[in-house]
Formats: sequence, structure tokens, C-alpha cells
Amino acid sequence: MELQDPGTDLPFRPGKIVCIGRNYAKHIEELNNERPSSPVIFLKPSSSLVRNGGICVIPTQSQDVHHEVELVCLIGKTGKNIPKASAMEHIKAFAVGLDFTARDLQSTAKEKGLPWSVAKGFDTFAPIGDFADAADIEDPQQLSIKLFKNDELVQDGHCSHMLWPIDDLIETVSAVFTLEEGDLLFTGTPAGVGPVAKGDLLKAVIDGLPELQISIA
Ligand code: ZN
Repeated sequence: MELQDPGTDLPFRPGKIVCIGRNYAKHIEELNNERPSSPVIFLKPSSSLVRNGGICVIPTQSQDVHHEVELVCLIGKTGKNIPKASAMEHIKAFAVGLDFTARDLQSTAKEKGLPWSVAKGFDTFAPIGDFADAADIEDPQQLSIKLFKNDELVQDGHCSHMLWPIDDLIETVSAVFTLEEGDLLFTGTPAGVGPVAKGDLLKAVIDGLPELQISIA
């Protein structure tokens, strides 16, 4: 699909990056988090984006950067207060993404009740793969989602296990932020998150979507 943005190496002009935390029960359990009563929403800056084949740089401020593989939606039609029933019409494409997280900084922030912007927002903390046209994905809730670290399967989930499916997320998120063309929605990670180290090669795979490969520096 053509979303070329002249002047940058991105195939589109990225808007805001909206992310969902705690959207898979087993991941909530592995981090001993409370199950939320509504989706946990946070933002990443567009400067954290990296494309397929790129590098994630471990920042000096963290000793514990974790991988989180996620299904990512590209918004193609702007909307506010989008009802669940028409939510999927606002998605132009899907991609595989990684929501890198400085877990040590996030844990400190959580203890103090402070925002996650730093823990989630470093440069290169939001790699995304090439897009697949939404029209070619029959049911995005019926996709398996996997992450291999140096060829070892470390995350193995299924999009049907989301606590809030994509249409619910779009309804909830768009009641807060206008979702604009070019925005990205990261839909949360299944269980199996863990640390990355310099030299690791990550391969993120979702059925029917172009694979995402990222190396760690
Ligand atoms: Zn995440």
C-alpha cells in the first residue's frame, strides 16, 4: 500500500502513538498488576518510531529494557466518539509492533504514581513493521502473535485473548482523543515479556502481516 511521505524514511506521516497497557490477562499476572476496569491508555512520542530492519538502542538511563510484541492499527479516517459498531472502518492498515519498555524506570514510576512517558518513550522504543491493508485481514482478533529472541520463541499469544478487542479500544480511546489519520494504536502485549541485551535479534510475527526484525544496540 502507498502511504509514502516524501522527506522522511517513513511511509506515512506519523501522528500520535496511542498505546494500551494490561490488555491480556496472562501478561497482567506475570507482572503482578491489577486487572483494570477499563483500558489503560498511554502515549509514546512519534520520535520513538523505527521501521523494520532498524535498531533499538538501550538508553543509558535503563538497565532493564523489555520487549512487548503488539498488534498495531494505523488509523485511516479521523473520528471522535467513534461507536464500537463503526470502529473498524477507521483502521486503514495493521502492522506488527514492539512496545519497548524500560521496566526499571516504569516500576519506579508505578510505585510513585508517576507517568510512564519516560519509561515508554525513548527514541527507538516503538518499532513497527510494514503495513498490511486492513481490507486484506479478515478478522484481526483471530491472529496469533509471536516474538522470537535470537530464534527462541519468547512470546506466544493470540489476539482473541485481548481483554478489550480493537473495536472497544477505538471507542474508548476516541472518547478521549480525536483519532486522526496517521495515528497508531498499539493494542497491548501478551505474556512472555522479558529483557533484551545488546546484540539480540528480535523477530516479531503476526499471521498475515509482514514480519518485523529489530536488532538491539
Ligand atoms: Zn505494551
